[in-house]
This record gives sequence, C-alpha cells and structure tokens, in this order.
Amino acid sequence: MKKENFVKNLLRWINHYCIFFLLVAFVITCCTMLFVDTLRDSLGLTLTDENISDAAKITFLNVILLSLIFTVIDAIRRKLAVEGPANRITEAAEKIVQGDFSVRVKPLGKLGSEDAFNRIIECFNKMAEELSSVETLRTDFIANVSHEMKTPLAVMQNYGTLLQSPDLSEEERLEYAKGISDASRRMAEMMTNILKLNRLENQQIYPNATEFDLSEQLCESILQFESVWEKADIELDTDIAESVTVKADSELLSLVWNNLLSNAFKFTNAGGKVSVSLSATENHATVKVRDTGCGMSAEVGAHIFEKFYQGDSSHSVQGNGLGLALVKRVIDIMQGEISVESAVGVGSTFTVRIRRK
Ligand code: ADP
Repeated sequence: MKKENFVKNLLRWINHYCIFFLLVAFVITCCTMLFVDTLRDSLGLTLTDENISDAAKITFLNVILLSLIFTVIDAIRRKLAVEGPANRITEAAEKIVQGDFSVRVKPLGKLGSEDAFNRIIECFNKMAEELSSVETLRTDFIANVSHEMKTPLAVMQNYGTLLQSPDLSEEERLEYAKGISDASRRMAEMMTNILKLNRLENQQIYPNATEFDLSEQLCESILQFESVWEKADIELDTDIAESVTVKADSELLSLVWNNLLSNAFKFTNAGGKVSVSLSATENHATVKVRDTGCGMSAEVGAHIFEKFYQGDSSHSVQGNGLGLALVKRVIDIMQGEISVESAVGVGSTFTVRIRRK
C-alpha cells in the first residue's frame, strides 16, 4: 500500500513538474526571442551558432530550475490550502461513518484558504447536526417505546403469576384476568397509536379529502363520551354552529376531536365542566375544547405535542403521551393551527383552526 502511494505521489509530482516545465519553457522562450530580436536589431549584433548554443544551454538549465522551484512552491501551497482542509473534512466524515455524530469541523481562517472549503465545512457541520438530532430522536423513540411497553408487560406478568395460585376466589380470578386484559389493551392502543403516527409522519400530502358536515362529526364524537361524563359527574356545555361543512379527511379529523375530548374528560374532576364550541367563517372553522380540569404549567404546555410526553403522571396509566403528538401531526398535514391556553388548577382550552376548503 505504501509503495503504491509512493508511486502515485511520484507520478503526480512528475505530472505537475511537466506542466510547469512546459509553461516556463514557453514563457521564457517567447520572452528571450523577443528580447534577443529587439537587441539584435537595435544594436546590430550578429549571433553565431556557438553564442546561441551556449545561451540555449543556460536557458534550458534555467527552465529546469524554475520549473522545480514552481513545483515545490505549488506542492506546499496545495498541502496547506487544499490537502489540509480536505483531510480535516475526510477525517470528520470517517468519524460520522463510525457513528460519532458529535464531530464538527472548525472553519478555516480567511487568509490563504479557499472560500469554497468554508462553504463545504458549513454544510458538513449542518449535516452532522441534523444527523445527530435524527439519531437522538431515534434512540429516544426506542427508549420511550421500550419504557412504555415494560409497564403493561410487568403488570401482565404479575397478574399471570397471581392467577397461577391454586385457591383463588372467583372474585380474585376475575380481578386478575381483568388486570391482564386492561394491560394488554393499553399495549395494543399504544401500538395502534405508534403505527398511526408513523403512517402520518411519512405522509406529506393529504389524500382523502371529502366534503362533510363538521358539526355532525363533532356531535358524534362528543356523544361517544356520554357514559364517561355521566359516570364522572362532569357537566357538558356545547355551542356548535349548525351545518358547518369542511373539505378534509374525516377519519383523521375525528382522531383530533377524540383525543382532545378524551383529554378534557380525563383531566377534569367530578363536578367540573367541559365546553365544546364550533364557529366558522367563510374560509375557516374553529373548534374550542375547554375544561375546568387540573390545567398545566407553561413548562408542561411547551412539551405536550412531543411524542410520549406526559405532564401529569397521576393520569399516566390512562394514556401513553402519543395522543397530542398525533393531533399535532394531523393539524400540520391539514395546514391548520392548534394552540392551548391553560392555567394550573383553572383548566385548559385547546383551539383548533382549520381551512374549510
Ligand atoms: P396522554 O393523555 O396519553 O398523557 P397526550 O399526548 O394526550 O398524552 O397529552 C400529553 C400531556 O398533555 C398529558 O400527559 C397532560 O400532561 C397534558 N394535557 C393534555 N390535555 C390536557 C388537559 N385537557 N388538561 C391538562 N393537561 C393536559
């Protein structure tokens, strides 16, 4: 390998030397001929063969020497201005190939360096940053999924062991079996949400847009929670404008209302109130889901649309922190807007604004 490199370098040197030799020979020949011609004419000199042969030999040596000097100077310039930065970029790229995304290349000093290299370095650093955030997201995602799966699995394992004890009462047996089916339902729900989110994240265009009655859809979604608000003794207040039609993917939108409503009921205690309103202008429809529940701090509010984020640990068994991430993704695909106003102990209001056409 070393010998091969040596031969390659030698050939490159010879190549550069030949280029300089031809260049210097051409320039010097032209200059000498012009100079000698002018001198001979103005001074009336006669040049003998011997004179010319001596001058040619000296000039030839001169060309060889000058070409050598130029080749060395050019090699040093290349080493400093081209090979140095190129090596730095290559070494960093090799580290990235090995999985170290923290690597960054220092920009070159302005003096003597090619500006194009600084542009490459800038792009390279941006690429490394992007790769590192994608990697963090990926590892966080795996860690979150594993963590979320461990809890229901542990619950199932426990109940499974308990079910193996010989003298169980019918009541105990039913309780443990219910524990297992609840935990497996949670896991299945999480998997469904992950799959939905994955599908939505890979989806840039918005495919199944049909015109439908949003007022009707909202009422249907609310009615699905009838048993929940009755059981939890929560008052429901609705102010839904009639016959508001939108052109959208109705399945995706119902996902939004179901998540917002289920959160509103989940985070509101008995005696509280959940209000849902729908208003519309010619181009936009606005849905507000307000509750008088536990509310959230600004710190929690800043993270609620992130995957697996759960601000309120007391309700964590009833969810997996994917609901609002899904909602946000759907609203983003629809180029709509979602915002939240909330105060701890007072309640929260989620506002969704979507285009009607
Ligand atoms: P999950 O409900 O499964 O925890 P979500 O993505 O739906 O996941 O919500 C993320 C977090 O946002 C919740 O854990 C909670 O802290 C907060 N949150 C969402 N909706 C409300 C609400 N109506 N009132 C108070 N906090 C809420």
